[in-house]
Amino acid sequence: MIPVEEAQSLVLARIHRLEPETVSVLDALGCVLAADIISDIDVAPFDNSAMDGYAVRANDTEGASDGSPVVLRVLEHIAAGMVPQRELGPGEVSRIMTGAPVPAGADAVVMVESTEGIENAGGTGGTVAIKAPAALGDHIRRAGEEMLAGDVALRCGEIVGAAGIGLLAALGRPTVEVYRRPRVAIVSTGDELVDITERPGPGKIRNANSYALSAQVLLAGGVPHVLGVARDNVADTKAILSRAPEFDLMVSTGGVSMGDFDVVKDVLAEIGDVDFWKVAMRPGAPQTYGTIGPTPFFGLPGNPTSTMVGFELFVRPSIRKMRGFTALARPRVMARLATDVRKKSDRRYFLRGVLEPAAAPRAEARYDVRLAGSQSSAMLTAMHRANCLVSLPEHESAVAAGSIVECIRLDQEEGTV
Ligand code: AMP
Ligand code: MG
Repeated sequence: MIPVEEAQSLVLARIHRLEPETVSVLDALGCVLAADIISDIDVAPFDNSAMDGYAVRANDTEGASDGSPVVLRVLEHIAAGMVPQRELGPGEVSRIMTGAPVPAGADAVVMVESTEGIENAGGTGGTVAIKAPAALGDHIRRAGEEMLAGDVALRCGEIVGAAGIGLLAALGRPTVEVYRRPRVAIVSTGDELVDITERPGPGKIRNANSYALSAQVLLAGGVPHVLGVARDNVADTKAILSRAPEFDLMVSTGGVSMGDFDVVKDVLAEIGDVDFWKVAMRPGAPQTYGTIGPTPFFGLPGNPTSTMVGFELFVRPSIRKMRGFTALARPRVMARLATDVRKKSDRRYFLRGVLEPAAAPRAEARYDVRLAGSQSSAMLTAMHRANCLVSLPEHESAVAAGSIVECIRLDQEEGTV
């Protein structure tokens, strides 16, 4: 049995970022940019108004107040999308809307709330009473104030979120280069497995793992390819595992423990290389890792929660690394454990827990954590209810209620604080 951290570093040392691909802008959501995005325009592209109001010459508004407004002549109405037709001379203003270009001659905008329009409705040639003085540049968004043509707008390595998508659209990029999502092959093993739509006969159960794993692959940003069920014999298992080189990663479940029909490890040794096959952890010590051709292979254990925890610890960081992410570890917080836990002192435990902010502030841990339900690795309910994995150190044989323990947040993405 090797320690969890050693297994993780061994795996990640073998995993490399995939090559970039060009995707349509919305498909870049959540991906890592593979190239700098250089703007070919100034943003803003022209001086424009930040307010609905009047474009003025600041000088003309000197001394204006509620009690003694300055009355100025309105030349035209400039809506967003229009091009101003008139240049302001002394004593002249133009009605202007947010986003509309500032007319020549204007050097400030007075917001409509500080004015009283007395012009003819909708027409020009009216007048307006300005009731507050404007300073030079007031409420004008300058051309190029966010970026200039030639500036790097989004950097290689940055993650594209909703705002990034908006920026790319503003810059006229219908497509963008990001690091590719890995294609992940999912293999289930077991003579007992039937599909989701079937009513299991005697001795059979439904194939929960291939669905839970597909979901985990999607959440990690990979593309799941379900290859189906390998029955518990060498020929079947070899036939499916041999397909690994068609994919960027292969993940199997079951068939890696000490049962008479657990053939995955032997098949892996025959058609590929085994790096390790047992990790000092619970749930799911028989975590197998190796390669088949160029493809990393994860032989996760069959018990549904062992499968999911193994995925979380080894496969998810691998998928993220392939996608170009540098943050590979989920955020961790310290919490006060609500119950006594007995454990084996030769392995790390990852209990399924529910974290909640502590009712009263406490220096050593801002959270309380309780168990999310039965900790049997055969049961998925606690995993479903959990928002964290409570990580209990290898060397302890018991952890008492009230202890401060480390929790891995399953409800927060890597790189968030
Ligand atoms: P194994 O590691 O193959 O001995 O499987 C351990 C336990 O996990 C057994 O109770 C299996 O029935 C169960 N199991 C294995 N594969 C799956 C699966 N795909 N979906 C649900 N349970 C499974
Ligand atoms: Mg099995």
